Amino acid sequence: ADVAGAAEWNGRGETGDGHVVKVLANVGSPVDARAAADAGAEGVGLFRTEFCYLDADDEPSVDAQRAAYAAVLEPFRGKPVIVRSLDAGADKPLGFLSPEAEPNPALGVRGVRVAFDRVGVLDRQLEAIAGATADSGADVSVMAPMVATAEEAAWFADRVRAAGIARAGVMIEVPAAALGAREVLDAVDFVSVGTNDLAQYTFAADRQLGAVATLNDPWQPALLRLIGMVGEAAKAIGKPAGVCGEAASDPMLARVLAGLGVTSVSMNAGSVRAVGAALASVTLAECERAAEAALAAPTAVAARAAAK
Ligand code: PEP
Ligand code: MG
Repeated sequence: ADVAGAAEWNGRGETGDGHVVKVLANVGSPVDARAAADAGAEGVGLFRTEFCYLDADDEPSVDAQRAAYAAVLEPFRGKPVIVRSLDAGADKPLGFLSPEAEPNPALGVRGVRVAFDRVGVLDRQLEAIAGATADSGADVSVMAPMVATAEEAAWFADRVRAAGIARAGVMIEVPAAALGAREVLDAVDFVSVGTNDLAQYTFAADRQLGAVATLNDPWQPALLRLIGMVGEAAKAIGKPAGVCGEAASDPMLARVLAGLGVTSVSMNAGSVRAVGAALASVTLAECERAAEAALAAPTAVAARAAAK
């Protein structure tokens, strides 16, 4: 999707009346990072570290991880980058972190749950991220995937802070975390909604299965209502709430997200300019009106039409 004026985007993530919504990129490699910087992304909202190790049989050393992460951070000196701890399991198995065979891998020991039994793997990764932060000069935060409760969020934040990393956050990908957003936010510095998994778990619809793709439409009002709860909680407590799933790459939907209280959107590099331009061409009040209309819609199709 593109909108008129994308070529003229001034590179600042904000609405036409100056309400800041940072426009960030999702990256998984040095090539992605360079493309994101070239596309004008203001930083990185999701660095998928597991993409560095999809073929690894053994845990990479701290030094090897530090070098790999620094190569991704390098184009973002002085800019915000959110590094995600390893999101292993389900659709992204890692050779050195594979759990026992499970009947339902998407509901099993995946994401942050892997770290509860393998704390050393997390602590070594955090040590490598802290080193890469120093090497690159990027303004790094770290977040965990697949967090369900405030206790899990607090546990993760403790480990991040113990590693000397400035800010700790978690992803909101499980409906329970969206419903408990206030308590989760109390435990961390920021949250970021992963709409791919949040849709999958909200609609009980495998994100990899074309047959149920209509359920995983990011315009589904039930999904938007959960995101709205996160935005409200973040506003109330004064902490940032981003969106880093596919939803953020749709320019019209990015406006709705801004209206729901989302403070940054993160997407593939190819959508950065169109989303930046879409936000710049409306006011915050217009975003809020679009959000209200989408939330009240009975279907995804109606939500998309109502937000126009
Ligand atoms: C998501 O689930 O929306 C997300 C951004 O994480 P991933 O796609 O890597 O699972
Ligand atoms: Mg996810």
